[in-house]
Amino acid sequence: MELDKLKKMIAGTIRENEPMSKHTSYGIGGPALAFIEPKSVKDLQLIISFAEEQRTAVHCVGSGSNLLISDNGVDGFVISLEKSFKTVSFKNNKCIAEAGVKLSRLVKDCIKQNLQGLETLIGIPGTLGGALIMNAGAFGNEISNYLTAIDLLNKNGTVERKSVDEIEFSYRSSNFDKDTIILSAEFELKKSTKSKIIKNRDQANLRRKSTQPLKFRSAGSVFKNPSNVAAGYLIDQAGLKGKLIGGAMISDIHANFIVNQSDAKADDVVQLIKLIRETVYKKYSILLNLEITTLGFPKGTFDA
Ligand SMILES: Cc1cc2nc3c(=O)[nH]c(=O)nc-3n(C[C@H](O)[C@H](O)[C@H](O)COP(=O)(O)OP(=O)(O)OC[C@H]3O[C@@H](n4cnc5c(N)ncnc54)[C@H](O)[C@@H]3O)c2cc1C
Repeated sequence: MELDKLKKMIAGTIRENEPMSKHTSYGIGGPALAFIEPKSVKDLQLIISFAEEQRTAVHCVGSGSNLLISDNGVDGFVISLEKSFKTVSFKNNKCIAEAGVKLSRLVKDCIKQNLQGLETLIGIPGTLGGALIMNAGAFGNEISNYLTAIDLLNKNGTVERKSVDEIEFSYRSSNFDKDTIILSAEFELKKSTKSKIIKNRDQANLRRKSTQPLKFRSAGSVFKNPSNVAAGYLIDQAGLKGKLIGGAMISDIHANFIVNQSDAKADDVVQLIKLIRETVYKKYSILLNLEITTLGFPKGTFDA
């Protein structure tokens, strides 16, 4: 493929055969055909049309903190907005932020403006784009709760604005088309006092630190909670806490986390996912659905 041609066309950077282990919180993942960090919407449009010409798949990622990537890597372009799409601005109670901004920075900027709403999301790693796709949340609050609109790039390379009423959000999920690239989002927050917002933030932080295995690399909760019961409780009750396959382990602190204990391969994590699903299903007749997203695996790898 003539990647040099694309390199000349865009202002952003292109790294060929880039190990995706450098771009996931798991530290796992083989090489992508190209890892691209665009500088602008124009760059994105050029990448999309070049990829279409070359019949190459395009995947947009954020910080890779909810992502398991295959050891064989990704046969396509992986685009990350983390480097350049980072502007945050405020007008009265409104906050407009670009998709590559880290959620932790967004929360900090909102606190500076005495704006309440997003502060309990403080410890969630990753970018705003990833958080919107996942409808990330913690302690009863979700990123979509204060959202008013999103600007996105559709698969034809056209910028579209969607109001929150046109998007369906549910628990750790949204209904954006597969090829959507989220560019920015607008939130309507509440004016409050700094001390009240900081108190909410600190309480959430404390709860997170006492319940999550933050010493090891992970992608957060692997499975969604089924209705009325926590996935971690089912995994724990099935006796799987601490189970090790290769370098991956079911956390002994939070059973819904699979951690990279020592140079884990994606395949080690996949084996643990299969073991958890089979064991929990046998014991409870409950099929656990994945919360983490996956890239580069053969079709059917995660079928129940
Ligand atoms: C220690 C730890 C704790 C965590 N705790 C929580 C928690 O409390 N609550 C929670 O909800 N999550 C949690 N997570 C999971 C993760 O941090 C969130 O899902 C986060 O919002 C993902 O953001 P990201 O930028 O890393 O997305 P990525 O992992 O890079 O991508 C996630 C998905 O979004 C897509 N995507 C990313 N950016 C864009 C974009 N601009 N346009 C279109 N698609 C895009 C990707 O293709 C992928 O499908 C945790 C993870 C870790 C490692």
